[in-house]
Amino acid sequence: MSDHSKLCATTPLETERPTITKPYPIAAGPKAVKIVLEEGMKQMSLRKCTKTLLMVNQVKGFDCPSCAWPDPKDRSAIAEYCENGAKAIIEEATEARATPAFFAQHSVQEMSNWSDYKIGKSGRITHPMILRPGTAHYEAISWEEAFTSIASHLNTLKDPNEAIFYTSGRTSNEAAFLYQLFVRQFGTNNLPDCSNMCHESSGVALKETLGIGKGSVKLEDFYVADLIIVVGQNPGTNHPRMLSALQVAKKNKAEIIAVNPLPETGLKKFKNPQNLKGWIGPSTDISDLFLQLKIGGDLALFKAIMCLLLEAEDKNPGSVFDQSFIDDKTHGYQAFIKDLRTHSAEALARESGVSIDLIRRATEKIINSERIIICWAMGITQHKNSVQIIREIVNLLLLKGSIGKPGAGTCPVRGHSNVQGDRTVGIWHHLPKAMGVKMKNLFDFEPPQEGGYDVVNAIKAMGEGKGKVFFALGGNFLSASPDTEYTAKGLQQCELTVHVSTKPNRSHLIHGKTAIILPCLGRTEIDRQKNGAQFVSVENSMGIVHSSIGQIEPASEHLMSEPAIVAHLAKATLKNKKPDWEWLIEDYDRIRDIIEQCVSGFDNYNERVRHEGGFYLPNCAREQNFETATGKANFTINPVLNSNLKDHEFMMMTTRSHDQFNTTIYGLDDRYRGIKNGRRVAFMNKKDIQKRGLKQGDYVDLKSHYENVERLAPRFMVVEYDIPEQCVGTYFPEANVLVPVNSYAERSITPTSKSIVITVEKSAE
Ligand code: SF4
Repeated sequence: MSDHSKLCATTPLETERPTITKPYPIAAGPKAVKIVLEEGMKQMSLRKCTKTLLMVNQVKGFDCPSCAWPDPKDRSAIAEYCENGAKAIIEEATEARATPAFFAQHSVQEMSNWSDYKIGKSGRITHPMILRPGTAHYEAISWEEAFTSIASHLNTLKDPNEAIFYTSGRTSNEAAFLYQLFVRQFGTNNLPDCSNMCHESSGVALKETLGIGKGSVKLEDFYVADLIIVVGQNPGTNHPRMLSALQVAKKNKAEIIAVNPLPETGLKKFKNPQNLKGWIGPSTDISDLFLQLKIGGDLALFKAIMCLLLEAEDKNPGSVFDQSFIDDKTHGYQAFIKDLRTHSAEALARESGVSIDLIRRATEKIINSERIIICWAMGITQHKNSVQIIREIVNLLLLKGSIGKPGAGTCPVRGHSNVQGDRTVGIWHHLPKAMGVKMKNLFDFEPPQEGGYDVVNAIKAMGEGKGKVFFALGGNFLSASPDTEYTAKGLQQCELTVHVSTKPNRSHLIHGKTAIILPCLGRTEIDRQKNGAQFVSVENSMGIVHSSIGQIEPASEHLMSEPAIVAHLAKATLKNKKPDWEWLIEDYDRIRDIIEQCVSGFDNYNERVRHEGGFYLPNCAREQNFETATGKANFTINPVLNSNLKDHEFMMMTTRSHDQFNTTIYGLDDRYRGIKNGRRVAFMNKKDIQKRGLKQGDYVDLKSHYENVERLAPRFMVVEYDIPEQCVGTYFPEANVLVPVNSYAERSITPTSKSIVITVEKSAE
């Protein structure tokens, strides 16, 4: 029997010291191609590797399952992907297999003492697996027994709200729609999803200010922008093809301002391996101005800029603000300006950690620009005041009339390939009203109206024993979540935990009394159903829905597609006769027909999704037809949140290494930050290291202190780094143990993984 107390919920301590080198100065380039081929040949034949990569992001190919950056109209016929997209594909197309024999050989306890990297390299799971109560090894189970077992657990619950149904952002529109329909027919809105941990703050702020929780720009806008501000985002690692768009923008005379506590390589120099110049020519300089703010200084920075814009506007009315846009299209301008006048740019600059001179230079660029795009990611969305920061970003764009015109707008860059699509087709812990009515009429059932659990509240419900069954459609919930030890206890209290997965991960090892793994097809694989090979569809970060067609043979004959898994589970669990689940999965056109009837914007879905490049969903902000409470774009007033750190305290932010996608660890290097062969590192400022009598290479224990609870992450190696004083950078999931479940952004309930107050103490030898 696996003794829960001996299972490692967090990544075990490293046995080898990471090596510190000089950060690699150029993003992508030939180096990236070399690394991809090396990685590819470790996991499959060169022939299979090149053949598979040729089909990524191609019109008749499959969509990259990694981030959600859009495909350009003139996509490369041979390599329309980046290094990290290729790594994601290689991980899925690997020849390594986690068979029943593999699980018979390796107990849950043994595997839980492996690093996340090693667990992930176990390969593709080939059969449905079950861990029965009191046993130490997963064993193979038939699909039928699996569905019957899950259905019986669900149907013996006293209340449907004792079940929790998580969704990771890789899930296709078709699977996600069927999933939410099944869950709501089962009787709950407990639909937490990875968006709760990433761009939920964007959704809340944009919905309130502009009327839609999505970005307003398209890829083409980058090519005609005057100014692009990239804030709280590391595109070189997390959205690498964005660098190609920034390169074109620069060629078209755009300027770029980068705002980040870390001088990320991808914001400095880029070599595009998709063209010859990227091999033999000089690199492209990306940012024209770098504002290195302190962690959490974003709102103060944007407000400081707007104070200086107002100063310039006062001196020469109409020369800075787009007054006609403000008068025609916005609400709340006077109150906003009245509040702005109460602030001092100098004081705000100090709070932001950026010098007033640099802020003046940024303001100058904004004054001289009409078409401005502001891009952001987790560096903005995972703070206590994230919703307010994003509202402040919108205020700046409204002052400049930079919403809903070519070359201008909001650009929250999604980090998971279909996280936006999942939300669009109903994956949300609140029932979308119109959709609820349509589903009720179409399927004769009363959808639950009461709001369900998001990620934070799902963790608490399991921790308090109110969540009895946890079902995850993809992802690695435990490692992605905050407060790892607390989350682990909650999962281990469940009667049943179920994961639909392609490969083993730590969430399989921190399990309920019974645990089941349902192995699914990957996005690269051919999905054969009764009416032939099927394709799925996804929505990228810019609201374009397009197809993804699996092309390679499945890793095992025992795999099922995500839509099929949901359909069979629904059939086994629900008494309601509608819809005919098995009929729906014979041909996914039937699922899309239903989506068309239930979700607005999907007219002629089956016809338009077959168009080259797919189709664009309606976007009221892009059309300047703001569907807000006021019918206008709303200016808002957002207070500055002072960090007030004590001398011995630090503000910690968790980040991804370059060899990682979310919780999937591709490798142990982070060449853009000069780290080799290790992940338990703490990036610290030289002065802070000296002040505390430490030196580079020392090991330290990191502790967070929240609501009188101390959380410990032991033995991180000190790395001297170009980071502002009293700021510390770490990787997740290693540092997620320090993020309290109760520490989340106001209104969006997104864990504050980018601003956690910690202390740093030398580790005992
Ligand atoms: S930019 Fe994102 S979507 Fe495009 S290939 Fe890279 S990881 Fe995949």
